[in-house]
Amino acid sequence: MLSIKNLHASVEDKEILKGINLEVKAGEVHAIMGPNGSGKSTLSAVIAGNENYEVTDGEIYLDGEDIGEFAPEERAHKGVFLSFQYPVEIPGVSVTNFMKTAINESRKANGKEEMPANEMLKLIREKSELLEIDRKFLSRSLNEGFSGGEKKRNEIFQMAMLEPKLAILDETDSGLDIDALRIVANGVNKLRSKNNAVVVITHYQRLLDYIVPDFVHVLYKGKIVKSGGKELAYELEEKGYDWVKAEN
Ligand code: ADP
Ligand code: MG
Ligand code: MG
Repeated sequence: MLSIKNLHASVEDKEILKGINLEVKAGEVHAIMGPNGSGKSTLSAVIAGNENYEVTDGEIYLDGEDIGEFAPEERAHKGVFLSFQYPVEIPGVSVTNFMKTAINESRKANGKEEMPANEMLKLIREKSELLEIDRKFLSRSLNEGFSGGEKKRNEIFQMAMLEPKLAILDETDSGLDIDALRIVANGVNKLRSKNNAVVVITHYQRLLDYIVPDFVHVLYKGKIVKSGGKELAYELEEKGYDWVKAEN
């Protein structure tokens, strides 16, 4: 599904990613961990096509197609979802209406007709029930006055509605409270299927109690320096990152 080969990326002529190799197959959940400043958020931004970063070497394939030159919207339309993609506040546009537009834009880009209104309503109902989102929330203005947990809920709702092939969740270093953790984990676990893949970027092992990854990778100084199964997350929790730093 996602294949990254020797990826190098820079910002303002400073190299941040220094040769990343990563293979994520359909049906898998990968966690990327690592100390602050390792390049985790940079990696997610580069996969999504953020133009602030310059890819200086290497390739990114999605289902065998080299997407390295594609604009962020094109990648999104091909099924790449990055959390925090739409953090903007849009007064007067409800969560539901924003979602309808996003879905229809994506369908249009893939040569499909608009989703019939009744089908859209059904989908919204189905996904909001699945994620325990109440109706009042759906009619609120997008991100306006949202709490941290509500932003998270909205983001996960977007993910559930769009059913991306590849979801990348960068949980940032700010940390999530226990409610937000549950919202994210619940959404991801319900999305999990043999047809899609999830990359969870997290500083904290805690999230991985709820989203059990198939593989864990440690990113340090722009390289994946260690990979393993879910037990690696526990090892990091217990020992911290100093031993990783010492080895590299
Ligand atoms: P992580 O998510 O692992 O904490 P980041 O990818 O956010 O790491 O950052 C990796 C390094 O790249 C840091 O040294 C950071 O300061 C630098 N960096 C990231 N984005 C930018 C940017 N837009 N401008 C300048 N430096 C950046
Ligand atoms: Mg950081
Ligand atoms: Mg980060």
